[in-house]
Amino acid sequence: MLDFALMLTDYHLHLRPDELDATPERYFTAANVDRYRAAAEEQGVTELGVSEHVYRFTAALDVWRHPLWRQFAHDDIDEYCAFVREQVDLRLGIEADFVPGVEDRMANLLGARDFDYVVGSVHFLGDHALDMDDYDVWTSGRSPEQIWRAYFIALGEAARSGLFDILAHPDLVKVWGSTHPGRPTPDGDLRRYYELAIDGIAESGIAVEVSTAGLRKAANEIYPAPAFLQMCLEAGVAVALSSDAHHPRDVGSGYEHALGLLGSLGVRELCVFERRKRRLQPITLPGTSGAAIA
Ligand SMILES: [Zn+2]
Ligand SMILES: [Zn+2]
Repeated sequence: MLDFALMLTDYHLHLRPDELDATPERYFTAANVDRYRAAAEEQGVTELGVSEHVYRFTAALDVWRHPLWRQFAHDDIDEYCAFVREQVDLRLGIEADFVPGVEDRMANLLGARDFDYVVGSVHFLGDHALDMDDYDVWTSGRSPEQIWRAYFIALGEAARSGLFDILAHPDLVKVWGSTHPGRPTPDGDLRRYYELAIDGIAESGIAVEVSTAGLRKAANEIYPAPAFLQMCLEAGVAVALSSDAHHPRDVGSGYEHALGLLGSLGVRELCVFERRKRRLQPITLPGTSGAAIA
């Protein structure tokens, strides 16, 4: 399926929005995938994979019984896998949360399916969420500095857990932007936080996601921030490129910014995954015939 001549990826795709009423019957369809494929083609993105949220599947309740998961876990994970494998031409991935203390249970869930890759996310610190109004960590009594520290420590642990192939939106904690009244970005050089995660990332060999989703949030910046990405690259970390689209219109969105950032930092290759094996492919720009970006 993959030709090495032209390669941009979008591996962090959701075929449906996050709303509870977005059912598989409505969104896990070949016609919906065609909409994503068409949008990707317009952006010159050839390598597509889907990574639905693990907590939308009942099997996730064997791992964690957070109230949000209990509210959203309705679907059959194996039906999702069968749909992707048998009916469409997408790589099969999943977005799985890092839940400290139950790594073995998550490993069982993930290991029982033949995913091409697993996108690992830190959305929660304990029972509190970073990027949701419900279960809000920002009103849990902790300072922004404490939340940032806890987030990056968890991120490094997520990498080290070995559960995941790609580390999703690696500085998600900035999602609300720098000026949000209750959720501000701490002042000063943020590398003091990135340093809490970098050893785990470097030593685990996990790929770091460059996600344009941050451009669509109040943060208005790609995940990870350039300084964090630079630290990852200096540590020899490989890059996976994604949009985290929940709608066809967002597939490959902001890639001109991402490619500019990657080019400026000397990134020439992206990760490609198949059955949880990774290889690197040269980046080429849409409309060119194999010429790597300069
Ligand atoms: Zn996520
Ligand atoms: Zn996602």
